Amino acid sequence: MRDADRLLEQPMPAVTTDEAAVVAERLFGVEGQTTPLTGERDRNFRVRSSTGDFSLKFGHPAEGADVLHMQSALLRHLARVDPGLPVPHPRPTVDGAEIGAHAVDGVTLPVRMVDFLPGSPLRQGVSSPELRHNVGATLARLDRALRGFFHPAAGRVLLWDLSHLGTLRPRLPHVEPSQQALVREWFDRFDSDVAPRLERLRAQVIHCDFNPDNLLVEPDRPDEITGIIDFGDVVHGAVVIDLAVAAAYQLLGTDDPAGALGEIAGAYHARFPLEADEADLLPDLVAGRLVQSLVVGAWRGDHHPDNAEYILAYQDSTWASLRQLSDLGTDALQVAVRSACGLPTGSRNGGANLQSLIDRRSVRFGPGMQFSYADPVHLAASEGCWFIGVDGERYLDAYNNVPHVGHSHPRVVAAIAAQSSLLNTNTRYLVDGVLDYADRLVALFPDELSVVYFANSGSEANDLAWRIARTVTGHDGFVVTRHAYHGATYLTMATSPEELGIDHLEPWVATVPAPYGDHDPGVSAAVDRLGTARAAALAYDTVFSSDGIYEPPNGYLEEAVRQIRNAGGLFIADEVQAGFGRVGRRMWGFAGHGVVPDLVTLGKPMGNGHPVAAVVTTTEIADRFTERGYYFSTFAGNPVSTAAATAVLDVLRDEALPDRAERVGEYLRSGLRTLAARHPVIGDVRGPGMFIGVEIRSADGPDPDAARAIADEMRRRGVLIGVTGIHGNVLKIRPPLAFEEPHADLLFETLDGVLAER
Ligand code: PMP
Repeated sequence: MRDADRLLEQPMPAVTTDEAAVVAERLFGVEGQTTPLTGERDRNFRVRSSTGDFSLKFGHPAEGADVLHMQSALLRHLARVDPGLPVPHPRPTVDGAEIGAHAVDGVTLPVRMVDFLPGSPLRQGVSSPELRHNVGATLARLDRALRGFFHPAAGRVLLWDLSHLGTLRPRLPHVEPSQQALVREWFDRFDSDVAPRLERLRAQVIHCDFNPDNLLVEPDRPDEITGIIDFGDVVHGAVVIDLAVAAAYQLLGTDDPAGALGEIAGAYHARFPLEADEADLLPDLVAGRLVQSLVVGAWRGDHHPDNAEYILAYQDSTWASLRQLSDLGTDALQVAVRSACGLPTGSRNGGANLQSLIDRRSVRFGPGMQFSYADPVHLAASEGCWFIGVDGERYLDAYNNVPHVGHSHPRVVAAIAAQSSLLNTNTRYLVDGVLDYADRLVALFPDELSVVYFANSGSEANDLAWRIARTVTGHDGFVVTRHAYHGATYLTMATSPEELGIDHLEPWVATVPAPYGDHDPGVSAAVDRLGTARAAALAYDTVFSSDGIYEPPNGYLEEAVRQIRNAGGLFIADEVQAGFGRVGRRMWGFAGHGVVPDLVTLGKPMGNGHPVAAVVTTTEIADRFTERGYYFSTFAGNPVSTAAATAVLDVLRDEALPDRAERVGEYLRSGLRTLAARHPVIGDVRGPGMFIGVEIRSADGPDPDAARAIADEMRRRGVLIGVTGIHGNVLKIRPPLAFEEPHADLLFETLDGVLAER
């Protein structure tokens, strides 16, 4: 017979109350009034003495002393890591041992003593929203505290461990015949769907019996858990099993099991977040616990008719609850759990609901706030190069460059969390990590560029660079490309013809065409048009993104920089889009073009979505700026932002992402050119690394309507791309660098389908 079976089949040790009183005094030095306590398999007594109130346990003979040792070690662990948890404290024997021994009828029983906690157990089958909240919250606190605990005895096979539910199947004949079919269905489901998924979930030592008998309350605070007792079922298992066990009892007698399950899960999740897979398995595990109670109860009732009343007290309500869950279905229960935990559900993206969100947004954010697509994407989560909608739909993100090393990259997330819990402040204090980051950043540039000014956005970085250029040169004017975008501040918007419109530029702004075919960048001519404003700087987005995604031809930047410097102006490389390895191994858009900019501005990908940006310049320019200018920005360069930015550099290096940008970029361009051969609507395919433009043309020339329609249809089919360019006819493919060949294949297949149906 297996230990687990023997434990429940072998009767409890026969220890009389008088004997217990003698043992309490002999082993623990506690003399007092001794009364028996109820229990399933051990023999327990309460000993009230002048030195305190204690609980004395004689362990089951089938369970070795190591299980009681584990319980003592666990209680001492909890006292260390979360002293406020209302759990009993172990009392050593008079010899200083944790566990004593006592022989009954030639069998040695392990004996241990702990504080007897005041309060009375929760009532079975009676719950309330407050109680469910507190049960969930208290269990989360206990599980969190148990994370770091282990003991070999936790690996024992325990019949009450839900992971082994399937082993109870042979006991099915003990269950009421009318209930057997449904119980069998749950067994089948557990074997085929639940058990294989359970193996993949987080596991640790868990209490595994958070049932009302083991949770104490005070009479004047009936919803507040003031004591957790009975660590007899402690075992190593999936964390979510602990919650399922607790929830199963809190569902008994409710008429809204989905709501009740949501309440307890939500309270747990707020303190010890569930993973999505755990949330999804919770309803099945709750049902599994009910099945366990029914089967074990029926079987033990048959074996111990003398104790049947205690064993079978809740069979009816357990059955009723299992029926309720079966009728509701696990899908509905999963939605309840997910929405209580703020995890994505399929229930919120109904048409009417979506429209009301859109309306609300336009009232709250003002009518000018655009969406990326004709059908807005309602998002809940992200990972790698995927977005996950509230309906659970996955969207391949082939557009966003901000999540540079991948959405929600665990190293960036961990860096932000760790630094936020340590220190966050501004650059007027000395903080090692911030300075270390600045060192690592400038090491990626030519030697001359050695001073870093932190900012919070690309716009702010450009605004500062523009201001530095004006201060240092004493000139006012700027030369930018014909359809440039440089930011949303007054200065940068004034130099963003893409947004402002070419006809609304200030007299101190002159434009040059983005470089197609033309080897004279036209900067000198633009400087002439500035007239008295005189050029403070030429600013280039080094991939000419909003102009239509063009890599500057060979020699082009060199010539442009020569022309601006001739006019006494500076060269600003706006690397907000191109920077950090997107264009491939060169790391920056200007690199490899034979120029060293006077100022480089950085943003978007720098913190993988955390707002952090920078201006990098020479000591000479910084010195001249400081003579007449001043810069400080409260959040700029804060330790949390720079921790995120540091993690980005780490991932770029460790995952060799600039190499990947080069390799997958080439794969993308070649696949897109193959499509171009089949679909005449595709014109030029261009751009460096993973920054790719695909021209869409009709026989009449650029076709912005078709480009827009293609992007919208791609979105409907689950692949996100953008549209850009002076004519609005260039598909913009600029994914996170987590993008790999299989993602590109999915993009090709989807685009092929969209174009085939046009
Ligand atoms: N420069 C360039 C080249 C950009 O593309 C952008 C943003 N699209 C900015 C500056 C402004 O950055 P942010 O939106 O972070 O202020």
